[in-house]
Amino acid sequence: MTKDEVRRRLEFYQDLGIKTVYRRSAAVPAPVTSHQSLASVSLPTIEPSQDSLLTILTDIGDCKRCRLHEARNKIVFGSGDENARLVFVGEGPGANEDQQGLPFVGRAGQLLTQMIEGTATKEGIPIKRSDVYICNVVKCRPPENRTPQPDEMEICGQFLYRQLLAIRPKAICVLGGTAAKALLGKEGVTRLRGKWDQWRDIQVMVTYHPSYLLRPYNQNAKKEAWEDLKKVLHYVYD
Ligand code: URA
Repeated sequence: MTKDEVRRRLEFYQDLGIKTVYRRSAAVPAPVTSHQSLASVSLPTIEPSQDSLLTILTDIGDCKRCRLHEARNKIVFGSGDENARLVFVGEGPGANEDQQGLPFVGRAGQLLTQMIEGTATKEGIPIKRSDVYICNVVKCRPPENRTPQPDEMEICGQFLYRQLLAIRPKAICVLGGTAAKALLGKEGVTRLRGKWDQWRDIQVMVTYHPSYLLRPYNQNAKKEAWEDLKKVLHYVYD
């Protein structure tokens, strides 16, 4: 990455309202070429004590490690407080996120904001969306919003893990099946939701993805998601 690119990244990062401390970048994996198998790509080592969101963002660079880079407009790294006590993890950017470079800014994002801020207000917990951190398993929009494929999740998942280790929240709220698979290696949101699990030593709560809750026939799931969120907010902020 050139100095100019790093400076532009820094400005973009500051636009997201994230305070940063620049640290020397970890080894950056080489871009994938069309002749190279994705499985052979070397991934960055996880060095929690030296990692920061800025280092991770810099390491991602103008990523071409998987096929998702081909149709993307912007990489959607994440947004919110670098020192957040709570992180939300979704699946991957949609069209609005791809345009703006920010996670959860479309309809599902508006619902997520309502869920966080509405539940917090009702429960007397003084937090806003900007107090948590929000990111996705994959950082580039899958074409036609298809589910990310296993190799895409594996490659991009390394950056998600580093984000989580750099932030070290008290809890992670996993939104939907793809994020549950990426962090817990388990399937079946209906079965997993509402119960505490763990990723490394961090408490994890799985709940429904806001896009699923937007479908009109899922009113009961909505109630359950609100219950899940209440549990998470009290655990983190009481
Ligand atoms: N759905 C997601 O999983 N993530 C986003 O950022 C937007 C929609």
